[in-house]
Amino acid sequence: MTDINLASGASYFRSPAPAIRTAIQALEAGATGHGTAEGIPELRAALVERYRQEAIDITPEQVLITPGSKQALFYLFTVLLQQDSNEVVVPTPAWFGFQELMGYCKGKMIQLPTTAASDFSLPTSALRQVLNENTRILLLTNPGNPTGRVYSKQELEELLEVTKEYPNLYVISDEIYDFVTYDGPFTSVLACEGDKERVVVVNGFSKSFAMSDWRLGYLVGPQELVKRCTAFQAATIAGVSKFLQKGAIAAIQERDQVLPSMLEVLQENRTLMASGLKEIPHLPFFVPQGAYYFFPDFSHYLPCSTPTSHILNSSIELCAYLTEIYKLQLSPGDFFGLPGHARMSFAVEREVLAEALSRLKEALAGLIQSE
Ligand code: PMP
Repeated sequence: MTDINLASGASYFRSPAPAIRTAIQALEAGATGHGTAEGIPELRAALVERYRQEAIDITPEQVLITPGSKQALFYLFTVLLQQDSNEVVVPTPAWFGFQELMGYCKGKMIQLPTTAASDFSLPTSALRQVLNENTRILLLTNPGNPTGRVYSKQELEELLEVTKEYPNLYVISDEIYDFVTYDGPFTSVLACEGDKERVVVVNGFSKSFAMSDWRLGYLVGPQELVKRCTAFQAATIAGVSKFLQKGAIAAIQERDQVLPSMLEVLQENRTLMASGLKEIPHLPFFVPQGAYYFFPDFSHYLPCSTPTSHILNSSIELCAYLTEIYKLQLSPGDFFGLPGHARMSFAVEREVLAEALSRLKEALAGLIQSE
């Protein structure tokens, strides 16, 4: 049996050919001296243009190019979280990387649970209940990882109406999956009505462009905050390699050529996974509107006993069992703040996906529910 990995967050596609070509050409042309800390002007301009085409008006000074969006988040957390009492509100389930980063910053994370039963929506009433004068950041992920939930413009505007009442609060929207949506146009928080003085977008090339190991990301925010993050970048890693940034320009400028074919495959894979999961009894799931994961609810099967009488109590134990016996890796919901679930990527080859679903079906059919 071959190993199947649906646990990874990296998509299996190759990076776009124009990006590879342009980066190699830049390297051969000797683009290896230090650039500027904030990023090369052409890439910042290309991103300004990208947003302009979405009717979002920003200046190059509002853009900082970072080595991955993780690093962009790290700058923002470091700059914004100055006191131990600072709070970062994160609707959960959420990507485990946020919690990991918080381990190196001041402040604490406050989870704001959302549920599959209400389509992972985030009611303003629930938000109001957790916000207080210590809240420094509301961290949204749109489209969501692991849920695939996409917030509508109206939902975002309603949330912004609430957050604007808190003068210390920044809204950070992690939009790294923004080009991977299925059911309609995506609205960036930057396209919403109202003041953007305390609104920041974090984005990158890892997901939509399958460029995860290029380590390329960016943040877009108020100029003063971007300046402080740029100073941090200058003092630590100096800046992002220029030849990589040149490759990123090609990716962003040629996106209409390179993205549709990937999206088409993902769309088909989404349908395939949805119908495979539907065939498995007692496994409810939300159909993702963006990103490339399903996050089914395995709680009907937990706790349970395996055919060899091992008791599985949690999704961590269930995932370990699937890995050991069925060579199928999923990512346990516990890592995302929602135990009983598991994240399954469909950014994999078609045959791998079909085989994974058949192994999962067989594995779950062999489990015996315990009380
Ligand atoms: N944000 C989210 C929601 C992610 O899922 C990931 C990667 N798993 C990242 C940020 C980090 O991306 P990057 O490769 O740009 O650091």
